[in-house]
Amino acid sequence: MPDRNRQATPASGNRVASFCTDSPPDLAKLAAMLRAGGLVAIPTETVYGLAANALDEAACRRIFDVKGRPLLDPLIVHVPDHAAGERLARFDARALRLAAVFWPGPLTMVLPKRDVVPAIVTAGKATVALRSPAHPAARRLLAAAGIPLAAPSANPFGYISPTTAQHVAESLGDRIPFILDGGPCSIGIESTIIALAPGRTARILRPGSLSRNDLAKALGEPVEEAPPDPSPAAMGAVEAPGMLARHYSPATPAALFDYGEVPAAHAGEAVVLQRRAERAGGGGDPAAVFWLSESGDPAEVARNLYALLRRLDAGGFARIHIERAQPSPLGDSINDRLCRAATAD
Ligand code: AMP
Ligand code: MG
Repeated sequence: MPDRNRQATPASGNRVASFCTDSPPDLAKLAAMLRAGGLVAIPTETVYGLAANALDEAACRRIFDVKGRPLLDPLIVHVPDHAAGERLARFDARALRLAAVFWPGPLTMVLPKRDVVPAIVTAGKATVALRSPAHPAARRLLAAAGIPLAAPSANPFGYISPTTAQHVAESLGDRIPFILDGGPCSIGIESTIIALAPGRTARILRPGSLSRNDLAKALGEPVEEAPPDPSPAAMGAVEAPGMLARHYSPATPAALFDYGEVPAAHAGEAVVLQRRAERAGGGGDPAAVFWLSESGDPAEVARNLYALLRRLDAGGFARIHIERAQPSPLGDSINDRLCRAATAD
């Protein structure tokens, strides 16, 4: 279990958030904070989220302020179960089926919203994104709070998502009072988002650890791929507004190279391999070499990805060269994140 109430250390060295645990007194304090319109960073199995009462417009507005997130980018609402979800959105037979198979878990469903959901949560859309997280601490907090929690990733907009409480502290610790520390995220990349619009084929808006095939199999019908990336200018007009070409990005320039290739890296640059190996940087001077997994297992890569990118971003490298994952359902989702991390403005 994490230490109780350690002090977080933000990069700025300013006022710091406190780490909390999922002990009953801490949960009671955090639940009260959320019910009163405050923000709390919470662990999920995918990445850490910055949570607020999804039914409280002012509280949700604070999420956008703290993250520097454009109001056009809708929030995902976290619920304990399908019954709580039904109060916010209309579930058709497909949504019921997917909730039965994949909730709690890393699946977000975009469904027709009910009036109770404030427009700020959905960026004015007629749909709301719902997810029931599996992380035990998130579930205990949802139960203690008794309200749905709007929670995007707990990072400044566009930066690498946090997968530990310390990551949250480093970038937002001077802007939020409490971080519920649930240890490192077991999945490490964001949820799969599927849109279920009445009368339309189910469509993946963001790839994640649940694959198109997993979803199609559970539904017994085809599922469409994600649409092409929007430009920032088109953000208001597209189906999944936050899915910008540049996202999840380190400040250090990043470049991708194909699996098994040797990158043209130089001294002062970092090379990130998918699996532990003796291969060096190649090119001119040897670059510093890091790896995302011991085994090459994409689940291990996903778990380690954001922590390594954050570490290297703080490491003073001139460039980060990252090897693409081998094609596989999860490898393709990892490559989606790598492409966005390596896209220049
Ligand atoms: P995150 O920053 O991980 O919370 O991701 C939220 C993302 O979910 C947004 O950037 C959108 O791409 C997607 N999303 C949320 N709500 C909706 C919605 N109502 N319709 C379509 N996509 C949505
Ligand atoms: Mg995010």
